[in-house]
Amino acid sequence: MLAPASPDLAEGKVIERNTRAVINLCWTCSSCDMECPVNKATNRLRPQKIVRLANLGFMDELLSLPEIWYCLKCKRCDYVCPNLVKPSTVICYLRKEALRRNLVSLEMIQLRRILFAKFQRVRWRAAEQCLNGEMESIADDQWYDWLETPIDALRGKISLADLNSSEAFRKVSGNSSIYCCFNCSECSNACPVSSGRSVFDPLWIFHMVHLGLEEEILKSPSIWLCIACKRCTEECSQLVNGQFIIQRLQEMAIEEGIVDKGFLFRWHKAQKVIYPCFIKEMDALFMGSGVGTLDRDKNIIELHPAQKTMIASGFSESNRIEEAQGLHERKQTTNLRKASAV
Ligand code: SF4
Ligand code: SF4
Ligand code: SF4
Ligand code: SF4
Repeated sequence: MLAPASPDLAEGKVIERNTRAVINLCWTCSSCDMECPVNKATNRLRPQKIVRLANLGFMDELLSLPEIWYCLKCKRCDYVCPNLVKPSTVICYLRKEALRRNLVSLEMIQLRRILFAKFQRVRWRAAEQCLNGEMESIADDQWYDWLETPIDALRGKISLADLNSSEAFRKVSGNSSIYCCFNCSECSNACPVSSGRSVFDPLWIFHMVHLGLEEEILKSPSIWLCIACKRCTEECSQLVNGQFIIQRLQEMAIEEGIVDKGFLFRWHKAQKVIYPCFIKEMDALFMGSGVGTLDRDKNIIELHPAQKTMIASGFSESNRIEEAQGLHERKQTTNLRKASAV
């Protein structure tokens, strides 16, 4: 029987003090896990697990978790927590700590930023494909092609004489206070998936709504890139309800038959295809090369030999989990079916 790793409660208090994320109030309800868009698509980012590890003071383990680099910083986990715990703040703190302790370089952080921006191109292409039909899988060459190929911006001058938007569309402007917008760009800065007007930029979408460009916007794959985190709404000093605008545009696209009813199902499935590719890139960037969690876990042990324990994420019944369990002498996993140990 392997001895369990002992918690370091003093370290937990340090994390608590430095983040003010009230991690000790977590009652493990899993609401954050269920709300996290990355976890929903991959089962590989559980904010609850990070909060619990922080509570136990497992700092070395936290800093070696690849999950901290998967996070989009959307704060959906914070908004949904009934006890006002802030898992996203803990993740931000861990990233800074990893940098401060030279576990990652500035160059790696910069590469991640670039890769994440390019990933929004992939999401745009995937949304476009789902608008036109099924997206079952993505081959490596298509993934890299989508990653590297910029999306063309809308071309052509828009003249006010061309505008002939429906009453329902005009109501989106009216009900969202969009006429109060003074172009400060705070919404674009706060939006975790904003990546330029040709791919997705909330301010650009609000402008299009303001101008009445109904057809262009309702047909655009861009509106489906929003992850409904409400950060644009929270940040807007003019009380423009950005999240409502985009949600209403999505609803209108379906109501008006521009997007067929099966799209949402296809789009949901597509997330499960593209997010794992993004995670694979993150693993390669931060954990060294290798395919799958077993290879990644081996790399973690090589990179962080001093850590006390290792906790697997995800669900699997394969013998690779058994092999992963044998990797670390004090590794805690509960059983084969459910390899998420915390
Ligand atoms: S939602 Fe809050 S209380 Fe529930 S598991 Fe997540 S951090 Fe803990
Ligand atoms: S900030 Fe968003 S992506 Fe990150 S853990 Fe929370 S819900 Fe998930
Ligand atoms: S934050 Fe508000 S006021 Fe500023 S650009 Fe966005 S919608 Fe306009
Ligand atoms: S709700 Fe707003 S901030 Fe969040 S993803 Fe959508 S546009 Fe961006």
